[in-house]
Amino acid sequence: MQLVTRADLGWPESAAAAQPTALGVKVHYEGTPVSTDLLTDHDRCLREWQNIRASHLSNKAEGYVDVAYNYAACPHGFLMEGRGIGRRTGANGNQTLNRNHYAIVGLVGDSGLTEPTPEMLNAIRDGIELLQAHGAGPEIRGHRDGYATSCPGGPLYAWVQAGAPRPDAPAQPDPAPVKPPAPAPEPARYRTTINGLEYGYGAHGDHVTAVGEALVARGFGGHYQQGPGPDWSDADTANYQEFQRSLGYSGSDADGVPGEASLRQLLGYLPSAVPAFPGREYFRPGAVNDYVERLGEQLVRRGFGGHYRVGPSRDWGEADRLNVAAFQRSRAELAGDADGYPGPLTWRLLFS
Ligand SMILES: [Zn+2]
Ligand SMILES: [Zn+2]
Repeated sequence: MQLVTRADLGWPESAAAAQPTALGVKVHYEGTPVSTDLLTDHDRCLREWQNIRASHLSNKAEGYVDVAYNYAACPHGFLMEGRGIGRRTGANGNQTLNRNHYAIVGLVGDSGLTEPTPEMLNAIRDGIELLQAHGAGPEIRGHRDGYATSCPGGPLYAWVQAGAPRPDAPAQPDPAPVKPPAPAPEPARYRTTINGLEYGYGAHGDHVTAVGEALVARGFGGHYQQGPGPDWSDADTANYQEFQRSLGYSGSDADGVPGEASLRQLLGYLPSAVPAFPGREYFRPGAVNDYVERLGEQLVRRGFGGHYRVGPSRDWGEADRLNVAAFQRSRAELAGDADGYPGPLTWRLLFS
């Protein structure tokens, strides 16, 4: 927008009555011969606008206190301030019409310069949008709408009737259908099992409390009204989700239900359910059973798999015993009896 203000024109603040809102804007023309010399010299536009104001101020019949229009638009695309924003126009024919619409005049006439340039149409549009941003409603009319006058002349009136489009506006594609705002997603309410322990809404246990306390310790406790506690709630899910996002997870990987990787990062290890100790006889030379393999896998998880050549199996062997012994030596409760054969305490400490 190329705006010429009253200050630019050397005019004082308008003395016109305040009119903070209106139904819209009416478009005018000068209604007299206008010289085509305007096209070649913008100084002539400024002089034209000064002359219009002078003629209005000298019009004793109307008693104008200022130029009648809110704005004028020249062929070079300048929007020149008249009464400006928030002032009642004196141009629409009577006081009711003046209250209903603001007024913008295009500097074209009934002879000479009669066709608005594209720049002028853009400037009128600028003025309409400026007024719409400051109290004008959506109506765009011509002076002749509701008043007996030829104003604003054929070309400008045809443009007004077309909706006063910007001449350089590209064809408008159909607007995209308006999507309703997405509802706030429901918190995830499924459970997942990791190492025999449940996580997610409804899960219960000390391991749930441990997750909550770790979240709080890391600054992800914002959704707790109380707790954390042993019952997994939506607050646990929401806090866990923020933790997942902090790790760079998104989408279903950040739904607030733990996965192994994030849980390990949160706790520093992966907790597991403590299975019932089956009995010492399952861990003797020659023993072959699922408990041996499970024990071995847990030793590996806890970092005590160093004696395996090929990994844990169902066959009890010396590698199992050496790994168990290493684990026992690492725990003060077990170090005094680190024979490599698991009893109930070794079992519980290994799996918890
Ligand atoms: Zn008019
Ligand atoms: Zn001009």
